[in-house]
Amino acid sequence: MSKTFYIETFGCQMNAHDSEKVVGTLIGQGYAQVETPEEAELVFYNTCSIRDKAEQKVFHRLQQFKRDGKGKTFAVLGCVAQQEGEKIFDKAPHVSLVCGSASYHKLPELLVQIESGSRRVTGLSLDREDAFETPLTRRDNPHRAYLTIIEGCDKSCAYCVVPFTRGPERSRTSASVIAESLELARAGYTEIQLLGQNVNSYRDPSPAGWNFATLLDRVGRTPGIRRVRFTTSHPRDFGRDIVDAIDSNQALCNHVHLPVQSGSTRVLDAMQRLYTREEYMRRIEWLKSARRSIAISTDVIVGFPGETEADFEATLALLDEVQYDSIFSFKYSRRPNTHALTLEDHIPEEEKTRRLTILQEHQRGIQIRRNAHYVDTTEECHVEGFNQATGQWIGRTSQNKTLNFLHPTARPDLVGGYVPVLVTRAGPNSLAGEAVN
Ligand code: SAM
Ligand code: SF4
Repeated sequence: MSKTFYIETFGCQMNAHDSEKVVGTLIGQGYAQVETPEEAELVFYNTCSIRDKAEQKVFHRLQQFKRDGKGKTFAVLGCVAQQEGEKIFDKAPHVSLVCGSASYHKLPELLVQIESGSRRVTGLSLDREDAFETPLTRRDNPHRAYLTIIEGCDKSCAYCVVPFTRGPERSRTSASVIAESLELARAGYTEIQLLGQNVNSYRDPSPAGWNFATLLDRVGRTPGIRRVRFTTSHPRDFGRDIVDAIDSNQALCNHVHLPVQSGSTRVLDAMQRLYTREEYMRRIEWLKSARRSIAISTDVIVGFPGETEADFEATLALLDEVQYDSIFSFKYSRRPNTHALTLEDHIPEEEKTRRLTILQEHQRGIQIRRNAHYVDTTEECHVEGFNQATGQWIGRTSQNKTLNFLHPTARPDLVGGYVPVLVTRAGPNSLAGEAVN
């Protein structure tokens, strides 16, 4: 009988994809995946430490098993593993393996150590030069595939733990990315999502020397691939050539996620973001002057140390100016090792909450107005599932909008397909419509 494992993933798409690689590696080593931690001999948590709340989740999970986890082996992977290292063994003595993402290539040998009875095994080195790749990746979605092109981060934003948890930037060769795209198309995938902490900082390490825009365009020309997305782009490295690529290649989705963090140049400077509000707005102008209508989304942090009411209002004004299609917004969270810990004027928690509520309400109004423009248009929808409760199919437009729709015939084979849908209603977070025959 093979050994069983369970894995739970927290955090971003990079983590979700890392887990797909870890699952593939484990299955390759003869382990069998199970659906609950109770059934498993090995329990893996792939963790996130971007904000304090995310970090606490894993310790909460481990606490639940402190008493009734006897006979099981617990492993902490990902960003909390890298950040806390061996301290995890003190906080949760029933953990046997602590491994950061830059050491996943060593998992098979670390597992051998565990199996031979070692109680405290670590993989915490950050000195890996190439990206973690495995031919064994077990992708969760049969139609849309994540594909990492660059790992780590060489920036040093004052609030962020990523450079400490994921190590320095490492790009994959363009040849290996193209080979994997072809492989994915052959396996039946029609949508590829290119991943990286700063996906557009990609620099081909091979003599071909492609930049991100070239790689994006070439992946979009893979026969059989109908949609290509990419996340996350850093504004500093966002060139006009990316907009040109989207304009000239229909397979590239007309959506760009471009995190701004703040609308105040003073705060951007304190955050060490490497661009001003004006420089960011120049990129927005490129996107808005494109021939295709490109949806734009962003990330915003409220309550960074020293953020005044005037700074916050500058962020609200920026939302009005850009008219984002969606935003992810967060209260600033203190993270270990980061420069922001040394700054003065930390904002009280209640004030951060107040600003976050105002920001989200403001953006909700923008989204209601923006989405209303889609009513009476026909959008191509990539079908992701069926909602039994509402009797509607669920899909996504090229602009990354959720579109729920009715289909006149009961066709069980719609998932994974592309369906033209007439939009009949719009809300702040999604569209609704009817399939066009
Ligand atoms: N590399 C991307 C960039 O530079 O825009 C961002 C990647 S980060 C994993 C995702 C988002 O988490 C950031 O854009 C930021 O808004 C948020 N974030 C990161 N550190 C944070 C912190 N200490 N407190 C609150 N939000 C944070
Ligand atoms: Fe974090 Fe900044 Fe790197 Fe993005 S660019 S991962 S926010 S340090």
